Amino acid sequence: MVAVTTRLGMARRVVIKIGSSLLVDPEGGVLRRSWLEALAEDVARLRGRGQDVLIVSSGSIALGRRQLQLRDPVLKLEVSQAAAAVGQIRLAHAYQEVLAHHGIDTAQILLTSADTEARRRYLNARNTLNALLDLGTVPVVNENDTVATEEIRFGDNDRLGARVAEMISADCYILLSDVAGLFTADPRRDPDAELIFEVDEITPTIEALAGKAASADARGGMVTKIEAARIAVSAGCHVLIADGAAPHPLATIENGRAGTWFVPHANPRTARKLWIAGSLRPAGRLVVDDGAVAALHDGKSLLPVGVRNVDGPFERGDSVIVCRPDGREIGRGLVAYSSRDAERIMGHKSREIERLLGYRGRDEMIHRDDLALTRDIGGNETRRA
Ligand code: GLU
Repeated sequence: MVAVTTRLGMARRVVIKIGSSLLVDPEGGVLRRSWLEALAEDVARLRGRGQDVLIVSSGSIALGRRQLQLRDPVLKLEVSQAAAAVGQIRLAHAYQEVLAHHGIDTAQILLTSADTEARRRYLNARNTLNALLDLGTVPVVNENDTVATEEIRFGDNDRLGARVAEMISADCYILLSDVAGLFTADPRRDPDAELIFEVDEITPTIEALAGKAASADARGGMVTKIEAARIAVSAGCHVLIADGAAPHPLATIENGRAGTWFVPHANPRTARKLWIAGSLRPAGRLVVDDGAVAALHDGKSLLPVGVRNVDGPFERGDSVIVCRPDGREIGRGLVAYSSRDAERIMGHKSREIERLLGYRGRDEMIHRDDLALTRDIGGNETRRA
C-alpha cells in the first residue's frame, strides 16, 4: 500500500476538484486570485515531475451571479444557466492566466452526465482528454451548465470529477472544498468528533457518518462526496477529501496528514478491464482471424484488417465480444465503430478507413486500453460466444 504522504507525489494522473467556496469569495463573489496563483504553483510542480493534472472546477455560477448582480438566493434554472455562461468565461480565463505564468497550456472542457456514460460520447470525451494530457496541457473541466437540464445534470462537480477520474484512469482524485474530511460524528455539534484518516471500504457505517454531517442541501455535501469517492475508488483511484482553503493545498497534502483518504483495491488499469469485461452488456460480436488473436495476446490493439465478421447491431462505444474464428470468446472491448461502419472497414488496412467511410476515424477497431482479454482477467477461453 502506498504511504499517505506519497500518494499524491507518486500518482501518474491526478484529478483535482476545486469547490466554488475556495475559488470565489462567498461574501463578495470575487475570485480569490492569490489562492489560485498558489494552486497554479502547486500544479506546475506536479507537471514538472511529469505528472498529468486535470482540474475540475466549480465557480461559474458564483462568478456569473456577481457579474450579473443577481441577488436572489435561489436562482431559477435558466437564470443560473445564464449566470454559468457568463461566469465560465471568467473562470476559464483565470485558470489560463495563472497557469500560463508557468508555461502551461490550459484547455476548457464542458461535460454533461451523458458525456461520461459508456457510449459513443464517452469514448469521444475520453479520447480528447487523453490527447490533451498527452500534449502536456492541464484540462479544466466543468459541467456544461448552460445545456444541462435537470434530467441530464450532475448538479455537483464531486461526481463529475469522479467520472472524469474514471474516464482517464487517474490514480489520484483530490476533492478540495471547505470540509476537512469525514468525521466520526458531526464536528459542528460534537466536540469529540474525530477526523477519519483512512477508509478502506465504503461500508453502510461510513455512509451513515456522511449522512449525519450533511446539511439540508446535500448537493456538494458529504453524501455526494462519498458517492464520488465510491465511483473513483471502484475505478482503482485513490481519493482524498480535504480542506483546501489555505494557500498551497497540494503542497500541504504532500507534506503531511490532511483529510480522509479512500483506498482502492485494484489499480486503474485492472479496474477498467474488469469493468469492461463484467458490467456492460455486450451489444454484438466481432470474429477475428488468427493473426489478430496473436496480436491481441501480444498486447496490441484490434485493427480492422484482422476482423472477419461483424455481428450487430451496435453503436460506437458499445461493448462487444471478440472471438476466434471457431467462436471461442477471447475478450470484450469498447468498439470504436458502429456495426454498419465496422462491416465496411473489416479486412481493410487502417489507412483505407477515410476512403471507405468518408471520415477519418480511429485506426483501431478496439484500442488495447478499451479491451479486456479473458485470460488477463483470470478467465478461461473455452466459453463459446
Ligand atoms: N457547475 C457549477 C458551477 O461551476 C458548480 C457545481 C458544484 O459546485 O458542484 O458553478
